[in-house]
Amino acid sequence: MFESLSDKLSGIFDKLTRRGSLTEADVEEALREVRRALLDADVALDVVRSFSDKVQNRAVGANVIKSISPGQMVIKIVNDVLVETLGETAEPLNTEERPPVIIMMVGLQGAGKTTTTAKIAKRLKERNKKRVLMASLDVKRPAAQEQLAILGRQVEVDTLPIVPNQTPLQIARRAAEAARLEGYDVVLLDTAGRTHIDEPLMQEMADIKSYASPHEILLVADALTGQDAVNLAKNFDARVGITGIVLTRMDGDGRGGAALSMRHVTGKPIKLIATGEKMDALDEFAPKRIADRILGMGDIVALVEKAAATIDQQEAERAAMRMAKGKFDLQDLCDQLAMAEKMGGLTGIMGLLPGVAKMKDQLASANIDDRIIKRQRAIILSMTPKERRNPDILKASRKRRIAAGSGVKVEEINKLLKQHRGMADLMKSMGGANKRGGGLMGRAAQMMGL
Ligand code: GDP
Repeated sequence: MFESLSDKLSGIFDKLTRRGSLTEADVEEALREVRRALLDADVALDVVRSFSDKVQNRAVGANVIKSISPGQMVIKIVNDVLVETLGETAEPLNTEERPPVIIMMVGLQGAGKTTTTAKIAKRLKERNKKRVLMASLDVKRPAAQEQLAILGRQVEVDTLPIVPNQTPLQIARRAAEAARLEGYDVVLLDTAGRTHIDEPLMQEMADIKSYASPHEILLVADALTGQDAVNLAKNFDARVGITGIVLTRMDGDGRGGAALSMRHVTGKPIKLIATGEKMDALDEFAPKRIADRILGMGDIVALVEKAAATIDQQEAERAAMRMAKGKFDLQDLCDQLAMAEKMGGLTGIMGLLPGVAKMKDQLASANIDDRIIKRQRAIILSMTPKERRNPDILKASRKRRIAAGSGVKVEEINKLLKQHRGMADLMKSMGGANKRGGGLMGRAAQMMGL
């Protein structure tokens, strides 16, 4: 999987990194080639467009880091957008609810549903130390229940005893009862498949869902079917509702389109990938690792990350020094907000530090929360550098200009200024305490600048 895409991309980026400087036209040309490579890999057109737009916008706005070449910067941006497209972080199975946790497996015949059910059971038993029960609700295909029982013996996981002539709902009921009575943590329900989507199948899935109220509904889809797998997921989600996807046959020589488009098109995470017929051939879907496999540029990505972290560190130290001296202007606030946004919220960062409860209250009363961080930065960015350094010169006409520039009301600017004044005063008083040997300010400032 991904081999051909990976080859093409490394060709494009090798060319890019060999140049010392890059013009906009160079980046555009490279992006054109990237788009072509993605389309050849059967990635959905929407995804290709959004991918390319994001890379282009970020390349234009990227901070220039001296120790990094423009080509390396572009690769890092492509890597980041790729990770985002794949879903950012690995999404684990939801198995920590109150037991028994019900996981319902759905998908077309031959996708690998039964095999994957047994693989998941084995994984939950071995890694999560769960007591697992599997039950096949497939009463259509002869021997489907027997197939699961055989796999169950192989992975040493219990399967629900087979009772002939029961309906899927009756089997689901027995499974739920057995789980309650016998103390299973997780019940895996393997459902019937069809060669294609049809209404009776969807109805059966919807009925089982409303009866069993599963915590997870996992669609098992064959990665080799490319965009068909993505459309299938869309359909299943619209009709039955799914919580995640397992892509099978990732060991095959598919072009990778399904893996790359799935998240963006369906909004649902790929939770696991199956990479073979053996019972251990199941992995979590880790976007960073997959992106690295596709790009094969892990070294460059790590290099750029390190350089960027160094710059952030220098900036944080500079801000901490200023704050420790009791200086805290609007530019400092803007820098802190930018950093806080990156770190997942200023209040969260402050909350980590014992002894700054007072400041935390101040922040809370100032209503600094993650939703308005962006707006506040926009306000400050609409100010001139002089205004940022001397907020006192901000009289009515300047405020009106800034309000127009940042798309907010003047009141909001006043609120921000008041909040900044409160913080600056606090910095000053804590700075004083520091001089008297309190030491708190230094820590608080470091924390702010993390
Ligand atoms: P179901 O009809 O959806 O339950 O599909 P099965 O679980 O019976 O699988 C159909 C075939 O696909 C079996 O021969 C499996 O061994 C094979 N299979 C399942 N998952 C994978 C995978 O990730 N890679 C490969 N190469 N084969 C797989």
